[in-house]
Amino acid sequence: MSRTSTRTSTCRTIVELRAEMRRRWIIPLGLALFLSTAPAQAGDEFRERIIGRIYTGAEIRKNLEYLCDRIGGRLSGTESGRKAEEYAKKVFTEYGLQNVRFETFTMLGWERGELDCEVSSPIRRTLGAIALGNTPSTSPEGVFASVIDVGFGSPGEFEAKAKEIRGKIVLCRHGAPPGHRSVHRVEKMTLSQRHGAAAMVLINGTPGNVPQAGTCQPGSIASIPGISVSREEGEWIARLAAIEEVKMRIRAVNRSGETTARNVVGEIPGEGDEVVIIGAHLDSWDLAQGAIDNGTGSVVVMEAARVLASLEEEPDRTIRFILFMGEEFGLYGSKAYVKEHADELDGIALMVNLDMVGRPTGLGLGGVDAALPIFRKIAAGMRELGVRSEVTNRAALHSDHQPFLLEGVPTASVRTKLEDDQLKYYHSAGDTIDKAIPKDLTDCAAVAALLVWEAANLPVRPAPRLAPDQVKEILIRDNLKEALELQGSWRWGD
Ligand SMILES: [Zn+2]
Repeated sequence: MSRTSTRTSTCRTIVELRAEMRRRWIIPLGLALFLSTAPAQAGDEFRERIIGRIYTGAEIRKNLEYLCDRIGGRLSGTESGRKAEEYAKKVFTEYGLQNVRFETFTMLGWERGELDCEVSSPIRRTLGAIALGNTPSTSPEGVFASVIDVGFGSPGEFEAKAKEIRGKIVLCRHGAPPGHRSVHRVEKMTLSQRHGAAAMVLINGTPGNVPQAGTCQPGSIASIPGISVSREEGEWIARLAAIEEVKMRIRAVNRSGETTARNVVGEIPGEGDEVVIIGAHLDSWDLAQGAIDNGTGSVVVMEAARVLASLEEEPDRTIRFILFMGEEFGLYGSKAYVKEHADELDGIALMVNLDMVGRPTGLGLGGVDAALPIFRKIAAGMRELGVRSEVTNRAALHSDHQPFLLEGVPTASVRTKLEDDQLKYYHSAGDTIDKAIPKDLTDCAAVAALLVWEAANLPVRPAPRLAPDQVKEILIRDNLKEALELQGSWRWGD
């Protein structure tokens, strides 16, 4: 059966009108009219169907339970990672997406083994620490050195203590000094190695006596151990180190090597050549169930796939659903996708990424000024779903939109509010399904599904692909140059 055979006469009229507009080159006039009329809304009939099917469905909960309780931590390149990929493929197929497939890529896999981490003097205490991703194995004796506190580990703080760091264990905190841009753990690790530290011990930012997982060096095994300790234990070490010399010993055994993982891709084919992507990372850390990060984004993408495929209506642009793997180790899946599909990037009208989502509050654009007017219209049409009409517009890094952003593809997200109780367990042993709020995920799925449906059916795309110089300008404006340089991802010269 043709996907379009169930169209009502009203829809056919709209579709034909759009085609006619394209034929007659009256798109600019069409867009002007579109922007000057009432809030942008999917045709009421589709809007009602999308919202109605999401609020009467039970699939979000079912999928989240499967990912969290039946599979658990979904580390890329491991057995549970593969189970998650297979489950996602099955779900996409059952929901009626077309061209459902795995896209395999190679990556550096890493699995934690044993870790002994202790304060050795002035008193001896074993710490409840964990190794950060891509920490090497140490020698059997381990690293034994005194501790130096470098505050938040920002470039300036490292600089201020540059002469004292060599051979020592750097102790630093999550976050950044007041007024400074946020400093990612990867940057702190890069700076630790550059200054000749023997190891880096990163203090978790949230209380609860839990350490926090994360990769300390994407793409390769670090030359020194990167360790996470809880806020309580870390601040205790810092207080001791402020009074007298503190020595620590770190012994780590980890496994690493080249492995493969698979992005899971499916689509609702559209009439034209352009594509709207909605994606989320399916992989998670191994300490817990990866419920908030990123079971939430994954099940929202699955739900958007379910309801939009059930419309049996061909959108103007293809809607492609992608569940990326390898994100936590350094955006391997999205980087591989952008590389493999380099000649198709011009045709991507929008990439919507969902990473850790809760109650929707608005729409966010990744620095694309040209898309602001239409996004404001779309947001205004979602007021009853809790979406504010002002749209944020700021480029950010460290999730699967990043490789698209750097290539000039317009990126966006649903802005959501996560509760303290959800944020507190980020990357820790507490990221379990009880932290997820089903109603918030339902609301978020409604917003995400409407957003991509709108974007796929706009008379013209929200914004053209940005030229490299425009991307550079946005990255500098949004203060991301230094972070990208420390990542090794800055490619625009000075
Ligand atoms: Zn994430």
